[in-house]
Amino acid sequence: MPFFQKFWIDCEHKTVYYSIPMGLQVIIATCKKRKIIRMNRDEFINKAKTLEPAALIAFAFDTYGKRAAIGTSLQKTGSVMIDMASRSGIEYSVFFVDTFCNYDETIELYRQVQEHYNIEIERLEPDPKDIEDLYENFGQYPFYSSFGRSRCCEIRKRLPLLKKLKDLDVWISGLRSDQSDHRQANSQKVAVAKMGGFDIIKINPLFDWTAEQIDAYLKDNGVPYNKLYDFASPYGEKFREIGCKHCHIPVKDEAPKRAGKFPWEDSHKECGLHKDGSGI
Ligand code: SF4
Repeated sequence: MPFFQKFWIDCEHKTVYYSIPMGLQVIIATCKKRKIIRMNRDEFINKAKTLEPAALIAFAFDTYGKRAAIGTSLQKTGSVMIDMASRSGIEYSVFFVDTFCNYDETIELYRQVQEHYNIEIERLEPDPKDIEDLYENFGQYPFYSSFGRSRCCEIRKRLPLLKKLKDLDVWISGLRSDQSDHRQANSQKVAVAKMGGFDIIKINPLFDWTAEQIDAYLKDNGVPYNKLYDFASPYGEKFREIGCKHCHIPVKDEAPKRAGKFPWEDSHKECGLHKDGSGI
């Protein structure tokens, strides 16, 4: 047995990684304000894969404390995950990637969810200087060119998200497999995500759930959700996913799965955060 052993020690608002002499762990373990994460990453992943969504979310927060967080753009899956976390009775964290391009209804939901669950959702924002440069380089509508769109997503989503994820061990995301063939083929319920420079355990608790299961959960549990999902145009178009207002539109029921996102694109439906889809 090595003389020194490594532990994550979660003490109130920060978590630090210690290498401590054997024996000292007994003293630390008796401090009620601190939590020692004894499980290694592989053990965590193996167990996580066997759990149902609510139990999986609770397990992540129970094991990693403040080094786990739900990342959401407040789509329906985000609402479900927050509700499950709140019912677990375990302390949990949520962050919202605010692109500054959201529909008013999304911002209204952001306020409503905080009030409903009595939580503070951390709001990640793009750097205003980057936004200025974006418009200078690509004009007023950067989303409509492939370079501009990629840079816009980079600035508004990817960079703020990466900055946040560097402080976490577990990213809990709302990605589902039936959202697209791409996601079905490239993602998993629990996996280590390579982020370029670091990696992180990425959990998609609702990965196997259908859109119908999500709707049923929202209804049965009185969960707040984005009211835009109830909108229908005079032509019968509805929102399937809600993100930045420039790039997400309502579509007809018979349209392809991700037709409402980047509607002018035939392929390229992901924001470039991951090969497996952003999940936020
Ligand atoms: S979804 Fe559209 S508006 Fe939002 S960050 Fe990406 S390109 Fe920009």
